[in-house]
Amino acid sequence: MLDRRNFLKMAATLSATFSLPSLPEPVAAALKRLDPATVPKLIYLQGQSCTGCSISLLQAESPSAVTMITAYSKLGFHADLSATSGSQALDLIERYISGDAGEYFLAVEGSIPWDMDKACIIGEKPLAQYLVEANKTMSGAVAIGTCATHGGIPAAEGNLTGAISLGEFYQRKNFHPLLVQIPGCSVHPDWVWHTIIHLVKVGLPELTNGQPDLFFKNKVHALCPRYHDFQQEIFAKKIGEPGCLFKLGCLGPDTFADCPTRWWNGGQTWCIGANAPCIGCSSPNFVRKKDFPIYRL
Ligand code: SF4
Repeated sequence: MLDRRNFLKMAATLSATFSLPSLPEPVAAALKRLDPATVPKLIYLQGQSCTGCSISLLQAESPSAVTMITAYSKLGFHADLSATSGSQALDLIERYISGDAGEYFLAVEGSIPWDMDKACIIGEKPLAQYLVEANKTMSGAVAIGTCATHGGIPAAEGNLTGAISLGEFYQRKNFHPLLVQIPGCSVHPDWVWHTIIHLVKVGLPELTNGQPDLFFKNKVHALCPRYHDFQQEIFAKKIGEPGCLFKLGCLGPDTFADCPTRWWNGGQTWCIGANAPCIGCSSPNFVRKKDFPIYRL
């Protein structure tokens, strides 16, 4: 008899076979056309973040993270992944930001401390200064994770640093760079890598509020396998019970993301699949209030 783990594996394999949550068609075609000599260069800076999004990006499976940052893109700098450190790393960042290293995209994880410039220093310069300088030289920016797209946890009520999103930062500076927003706490690796390939090789994907429709067109609620339970008013009363999780605080009705069809951890599971209510981590309202209900029991 199949145990649960093997059943989930089998379901993920079937999903992959029928191309349910796999590569969007333009991205798959673009991957085949990639020229190793012209792969996009990325420089990845972190603001107020827990590095969870970086960790999530390393979980990529199709293609793998190693393939993504060596064959399909050139990762110029990342604080956790780069082999260089100290003055060498700072020189490298400067080369990119000054435009001397050619065309590049800026990826930013974490929020920006508007009221406390020195909260995020890279070398001897505040992150904000790099962002201002990059505005003149970068091809575009990708805000990675909800802290970068909407402020996230650092911007929750009572924050002392004046944490704001990357978009809000550029708006306050009256700058208008190409900005793609990929929320999530943490972000799904497919959402980032597939967007970057699309951006560079196919062009700008269709965006709504800066977010790619490829992943954020529908609400979790609309795609949820428990939607039928919701309609029939079959609600779970405690975690672990079958039925719709709405009365346990599920925020699927307010959250745009394709988690129900994409799944997480290499197609192993996802929040509602593991009986946990959606916490709305890709929503602009995620943890913005002190009394934000992650779970209601
Ligand atoms: Fe909607 Fe959540 Fe119920 Fe799924 S579990 S149907 S997302 S309220």
